[in-house]
Amino acid sequence: MKIDVLGCGSAFSLNHTTSAIRIIDNQQSQWLIDCGPTVPRALWQRNLDINTIDVIFFTHIHPDHCAGLAVLLNQWKSFGRVKPLQIYCQAEQQAMLVNQIALANWPHTELTFPIEILASQPAWQWRGWQIHTAFAQHEIPSQAIRIEADNHVLFYSGDGRPTDATQALMAGCTLAFQECASWPPLAADASHGDYPACLALCEKLALNLMVLYHSQDAFRPAISSDCATHPHVMLSEDGLTFDLEALSPTLAVL
Ligand SMILES: [Zn+2]
Repeated sequence: MKIDVLGCGSAFSLNHTTSAIRIIDNQQSQWLIDCGPTVPRALWQRNLDINTIDVIFFTHIHPDHCAGLAVLLNQWKSFGRVKPLQIYCQAEQQAMLVNQIALANWPHTELTFPIEILASQPAWQWRGWQIHTAFAQHEIPSQAIRIEADNHVLFYSGDGRPTDATQALMAGCTLAFQECASWPPLAADASHGDYPACLALCEKLALNLMVLYHSQDAFRPAISSDCATHPHVMLSEDGLTFDLEALSPTLAVL
């Protein structure tokens, strides 16, 4: 399994793409997790075939995680995508995506490819993948996801502070992405992760590697410099790639 960090930015980052990753398994199946407003351009910069992405999974429908969908679908339609697309999202949040699908081709109603919108469940299988989701602590329900595929385990937190349920999904993973908006500690009932709590969680779970993302621009220098003293924690960057077989991050574009 390979991971391509399309973006690691916070909602209003001036210099980072909004947070999203691409997952490529050994059979070249590809998922996109989240699609904020600047994610389509990051995808286009990779020169992918328009039929490459099989599935888009949305952690939640805050604009910085989903507002790029209409633009991406419009580009796929404009260049004649034919491959069916599956979209996984919490059932209660799907209406916002339906609006974007309509916008992607308005005033016409037909795209050049079918879209199936599915409700993300606590657990399901997709091809050979075992998938689990759990809710983080966020202003609106936001799902963390655990994907077991190719003998590795990937965890991606979505927005929000870790909960007992998301920590259970994170345990034993090969690679964990954890939202870490803040350098200073936040209140226990806050809606975002903070660096001291992320660091403590990484140590508690003895993780191989926790990659922090969605950090506010102003906090990135402090987080980055402290991560340098902790071998199992690092600050994400746009364009990082991870090969879970080797777990060596590089800046090469896949
Ligand atoms: Zn959010």
